Amino acid sequence: MKRLVQKLACRAIITALMFPGIAFGAGVQDREVIIVPVGTVQADILEDLKEVLTDRFDLDFTIIEPIQVPANAYNPERRQFYSGDILEYLSGTYDNKKVLAVIDEDLYVPELNFIFGQAEIPGRCAIISLTRLRQTYYGLPEDEAAFFERVVKEAVHELGHTYGKEHCSDGTCVMFFSNSLQDTDKKSSYYCAKCIITETEGH
Ligand SMILES: [Zn+2]
Ligand SMILES: [Zn+2]
Repeated sequence: MKRLVQKLACRAIITALMFPGIAFGAGVQDREVIIVPVGTVQADILEDLKEVLTDRFDLDFTIIEPIQVPANAYNPERRQFYSGDILEYLSGTYDNKKVLAVIDEDLYVPELNFIFGQAEIPGRCAIISLTRLRQTYYGLPEDEAAFFERVVKEAVHELGHTYGKEHCSDGTCVMFFSNSLQDTDKKSSYYCAKCIITETEGH
């Protein structure tokens, strides 16, 4: 029962985000977020993601042309891409804009085996990786709906970081740290009442 109330509360608050001026309001200089495909990324995923994020946030999302994966980000020993290098590239390339990068390569940071995404906290640039969100990565039959739900959660999570939100201890909050796909599946795609982005933070 408690869980139900929690979920309803989050949905009510998110609805408020959909009205211009309530969140991300007057103080926002540039409400545009560019979605940057890094390397080859399935176009329909980007379109679907853009649609969901546009519904959720009072921001304008634009998908731009894909860019090449920055070559220096590849670590041949780990056979993964270092997300810090990619974020640095994005930050230096698209100054003044909020950036949500999407990549279909495996990402890491030195202290972890892999990451689903990373963002500047707070900042402008965020990146999510699709690779480990697919069932097929784990040798399971593909589940498109589950995959897309995970993509939305990771995108909302990383965008939350760009607004200064840290990890949340509430396992159902989208800002909960996902150490595994189970963690991602368990949490919702919504901010809890504590993590919701307010008007004063939304710029
Ligand atoms: Zn995080
Ligand atoms: Zn939270």
